[in-house]
Amino acid sequence: MSDKVLIVTGGSRGIGAATCRLAAAQGWDVAINYTANATAAEAVAKQVTDAGRRAITVKGDMASEADILSLFETAEKELGPVGGVVANAGITGKITRVEDMSTAAMQEVINLNVIGLMITNREAVRRMSTKRGGKGGPIVNTSSIAPRVGSPNEFVHYAASKGAVDAWTLGLAREVAGEGIRVNAVAPGMIDTDIHATAGAPDRASRLGALVPIGRAGTAEEVAEAIVWLLSDHAAYCVGTVLEVNGGR
Ligand code: NAP
Repeated sequence: MSDKVLIVTGGSRGIGAATCRLAAAQGWDVAINYTANATAAEAVAKQVTDAGRRAITVKGDMASEADILSLFETAEKELGPVGGVVANAGITGKITRVEDMSTAAMQEVINLNVIGLMITNREAVRRMSTKRGGKGGPIVNTSSIAPRVGSPNEFVHYAASKGAVDAWTLGLAREVAGEGIRVNAVAPGMIDTDIHATAGAPDRASRLGALVPIGRAGTAEEVAEAIVWLLSDHAAYCVGTVLEVNGGR
């Protein structure tokens, strides 16, 4: 059993998938969570095992407490004690103005991006806190620069959800910093992944990427570099940091 067992939620595509690959290259065994795309998750698992690390794929809705508990239990049973967690699963919801936004759409975004992330963090703390007999370990949450720009006319509910992630990350980080757990977040800017097509605007990254000071959208790999750095001992003094990866936006 390795003491470098990492759970990545939403690890089958985009930023999560890039994180699984890079974490494997840095010596992590990885439990790759996905919710629908088993083929994509299996492809990431193969890349992890090709890098010489162990991988499992675990289907589960990270807005469901039962599925989150099951993810942790499966990872522990198959790979060993959890030593790090990346709470990355997140959705924007469909692009819409607030006046046209359904209550269900608001709840869907908050349930996954906020409540699911909180439960995921709680389960990590329960297992890793030295105060509870754990060995410590890092938690990295995927936030966004959206709380700073507000995402008007697109997904204000999403921006609000990520604002909650930032506040949660700071508070939890300070709560458990003395228990061997470093909690931090990355806040990506405009990153070229499937999330934009899912939101209803497949050309969003290329269209808006051109307006970013650096002149393009970022890649999932560029965000994964920051996540895996925050997981590592190189970030040993980072506590409650929200690290923007934004091309100057
Ligand atoms: P993506 O390419 O759309 O990938 C989403 C991933 O999350 C997939 O692995 C998907 O699984 C999984 N997922 C979706 N709903 C889930 C659920 N209910 N439970 C478990 N897994 C679920 O997204 P991305 O762009 O990589 O985004 C990852 C994170 O980065 C999100 O938190 C997002 O808010 C944040 N972010 C992204 C950007 C950007 O521009 N891309 C910018 C700022 C922040 P399946 O493959 O099974 O569907």
